[in-house]
Amino acid sequence: MKKVVVLGAGYAGLQTVHKLQKKVKGKAEIILVDKDDYHYETTELHEVASGTQPALKITYPIADIIDPAVTKFIQDEVVKLDATKKQVQLKQHGMLDYDYCVLALGFVSETFGIKGAKENALEMTNIKQSLAIYDHILASMKKYKETKDKRYLQLVVCGAGFTGIELAGALAEGRPEYAKVAGVAPSEVKITVVEAATRLLPMFSEKLADYGVKLVESLDVELLCGAKISEVAPGEVVYEKDDQTNSLKAETIIWTTGVSGSPVVGESNLQERRGRVVVTDNLTDPNFDDLYILGDVAAVMDKESGRPYPTTAQIATEMAVYAAKDLESQINGNGHLSTPFVYKSKGTVASVGNTHGFGVIGKLEIKGYPASMMKKMIMNKSLFEIGGFKEFIAKGRFDLYH
Ligand code: NAD
Repeated sequence: MKKVVVLGAGYAGLQTVHKLQKKVKGKAEIILVDKDDYHYETTELHEVASGTQPALKITYPIADIIDPAVTKFIQDEVVKLDATKKQVQLKQHGMLDYDYCVLALGFVSETFGIKGAKENALEMTNIKQSLAIYDHILASMKKYKETKDKRYLQLVVCGAGFTGIELAGALAEGRPEYAKVAGVAPSEVKITVVEAATRLLPMFSEKLADYGVKLVESLDVELLCGAKISEVAPGEVVYEKDDQTNSLKAETIIWTTGVSGSPVVGESNLQERRGRVVVTDNLTDPNFDDLYILGDVAAVMDKESGRPYPTTAQIATEMAVYAAKDLESQINGNGHLSTPFVYKSKGTVASVGNTHGFGVIGKLEIKGYPASMMKKMIMNKSLFEIGGFKEFIAKGRFDLYH
């Protein structure tokens, strides 16, 4: 029996287990490790942070996915991996040996060393942090009622990438609730996004990016572009704009300026940059043939642009499908697949609140309500593919018509 250890139950890890366990019964044992006993839809964390969806809507138990005849689940934190000795060190459960390992531990927030960002801004990279943001917003609104200090009504999102834009849209949707708690008119709750770049959403055409910007602004969200954050102090975001230092006072400051791969990658002495390893055509580490690196800890090079593809749920899921096939071939003694992993993005859609969005599907630019419908269909597909019918029925988005 071969032993496959899968680290992380995000899109990449859980999809690998889901596909592989059907194929290797009696030939391999799979051990899945995650610090939580549930999977969550990372792409929807902004909804939990804004309180527009409950956490339960975007999570489901890992136990629902695994087949206990093949897969054992260990709830624990991964400390590091020794790829030479083929061992993984866990915080509570000691050492785990493996024949093959799948490293899929996802992302953490990147602060680029900006002073005070770690200490004074709220991160939104998992369910607990997202719930903490929602609690923080409501507590600030209550504080406003007691103090009448306007800082409690100001919400700041740092960084207007996809995460920041989707979060701003969701916060705008949550605004009537926050205003009610504070006892003010919704327009008094201010939402500001601070962004270093002057041209937002560079992955889209100028026309589509402009549409996205106008859509967000139409929800009474202030977009401060060309504003590079240099420091976050308690209750204050300091930024440089037009060669001047400015600051914005706010009780709620949320950090979405980018991500890096899990710090476990660095701890494990792998060849990495910002927690990401440039993988081989078979999605393995360049130095360790039995170590697969998938999802946000991997950099898959786009041969056309010479740059890595952006890390998304879509590429993570496709990598997992390939890795499961490659593992099956290795377990059967046939070595790696002769065909390399090839990625072709199907498109990208950002939601702005529950009923609007924008993005590209294939070569087609989509806007407004059809884009929001498409985003829900993408989510439903992902739920169905990994979670199966049960999770699809329980957690799917069926409010497609408005
Ligand atoms: P990102 O790196 O894409 O965007 C971060 C933004 O923060 C950038 O616009 C950057 O200019 C800005 N920024 C960085 N430093 C700054 C500073 N000091 N001051 C002000 N602004 C600063 O990060 P993200 O939005 O978290 O996305 C991470 C990845 O996840 C991306 O690949 C993205 O495409 C993907 N994603 C996809 C979706 C979707 O498909 N719907 C949703 C969210 C994220």
